[in-house]
Amino acid sequence: MSAEKPPITTTDSGIPASSDEFSLTAGPGGPTVLHDHYLVQKMQHFNRERVPERVVHAKGGGAHGFFEVTADLTQYTKASFLGQVGKRTPAFVRFSTVAGEQGHPDTVRDPRGFALKLYTDEGNFDLVGNNTPVFFIRDASKFSDFIHSQKRMPESGLRSNEMQWDFWTLSPESAHQVTILMSDRGTPRTWRHMHGFGSHTFSWINSDGRCFWVKYHLKTVQGIECFSESEAAAMAAEDADFHRRDLYDSIAAGEAAEWRVEMQIMPFEDAADYRFNPFDLTKVWPHSDYPQIEVGRLVLDRNPENFFAEVEQAGFSPANLVPGTGLSPDKMLMGRVFSYHDTHLHRIGANYEQLPINSPKVPVHSYNQDAAMAYHHSGTQPVYAPNSRGGPQADPARGADLPWSVAGGELGRYAYDKHAEDDDFGQAGALYRDVMTDGERQALVSNIASHASAGVSAEMQQRVLHYWSSVDADLGARVAQALGLAGATNGAAATAATAGTVA
Ligand code: NDP
Repeated sequence: MSAEKPPITTTDSGIPASSDEFSLTAGPGGPTVLHDHYLVQKMQHFNRERVPERVVHAKGGGAHGFFEVTADLTQYTKASFLGQVGKRTPAFVRFSTVAGEQGHPDTVRDPRGFALKLYTDEGNFDLVGNNTPVFFIRDASKFSDFIHSQKRMPESGLRSNEMQWDFWTLSPESAHQVTILMSDRGTPRTWRHMHGFGSHTFSWINSDGRCFWVKYHLKTVQGIECFSESEAAAMAAEDADFHRRDLYDSIAAGEAAEWRVEMQIMPFEDAADYRFNPFDLTKVWPHSDYPQIEVGRLVLDRNPENFFAEVEQAGFSPANLVPGTGLSPDKMLMGRVFSYHDTHLHRIGANYEQLPINSPKVPVHSYNQDAAMAYHHSGTQPVYAPNSRGGPQADPARGADLPWSVAGGELGRYAYDKHAEDDDFGQAGALYRDVMTDGERQALVSNIASHASAGVSAEMQQRVLHYWSSVDADLGARVAQALGLAGATNGAAATAATAGTVA
């Protein structure tokens, strides 16, 4: 206990309160009076404590730290925060599950969000990633459908494995991500023991105007550690907040968490003829094609002081890209560029970027103004552009627009251009055959079987078998065996012959 006298309780207007425990009443047993504005305002504020929960990534935790450059990158990008070896930029990261609501156990099988905000000297740079290098779908038009299928059924409000497999098996492009999800990487031991990925293809542009396609990888220095299915379930029952607690407690104990930041960099011209469509979010670029280049490190070493202010009110957006960094024609990324900012406008408010956790550390000279809870005002700055009153002026040379050309740009609803080795199952098959150890393959089979036997119909199980046989014939056969459907694999296995390989 501190020996210092605590401050006096006040109303939110700063007026000293006369009691922390007694309402104002007419006599000791009398009715409470309405003009006890301290009591009334306390209840009113309590009723308004919650902001809308994030539709996805509702449950999370976060920490502050820094990003430090460890390699000369000036040949690839003119971004100031990447411009000098040793340069440090303040960072904030929010980790999360995807489908569960607030209060959901941290250790359930799910991808994990890995959202990074860098407060650079050219404005905020956000990398709103996951712990997986790919995603379930490749076009933003399917995003809300996908999320609905992973959440709750309309009639019962219950989650449904049947609904999840229904969506996945009807969306074969999901196979790569579902393979990762069903491996033990779908149940990371802690947030500190998993990688992060920007997942999408992004771009860099250097000071000579040369462009590159890039992928961001954040590799855990703590090492990959995963829970088995049964360990994850046991921890969900024992401590629903295990991941949030682990991050907070380890940093409070002075143990910083660190990730090596590595890039894959593709010359701009390679994209057209690369063997995979490089903008398809369901695919990786094999390391043998584009090796990872170590460029920096991310260190998290400071806990938030206030969870709501810093973790709940943090708003990340893939649109936040500083000069020298840019987008790509990835159709999921294009959708997210709109969607993230929009959800924060709804969830936190029109001026969410003025909150300290979201506010850039550079001056803002914007022509946006007013709206609810505006805190920083532009004073007498002119309110329109162009103006002859000395208002801010855009600088095309500093802006972050990437000059890419669009071939055959006729309006239409298109699938991606197919590149030589594009298919939905090949890279998932390569992961199973060429990357996983025997033990990891066994865990994959058993995790799939456990998920596909909990509330999943016999008819759906046939589709599940077909799906996994398309990834790999052996995998399909082993899943069939584990589901007790060994006789049913023949038809499904035949389909697997169509699955390509990526060596
Ligand atoms: P490499 O052998 O060069 O790399 C394999 C990668 O797979 C490593 O980064 C490894 O991570 C990661 N990995 C191992 N087990 C799993 C798992 N259960 N779930 C997800 N990732 C895992 O292979 P290639 O680059 O040629 O790619 C082969 C396959 O590896 C791909 O089809 C893809 O499925 C997977 N992969 C590829 C990545 C890439 O960017 N090229 C990134 C991640 C996965 P670790 O760092 O722990 O060794």
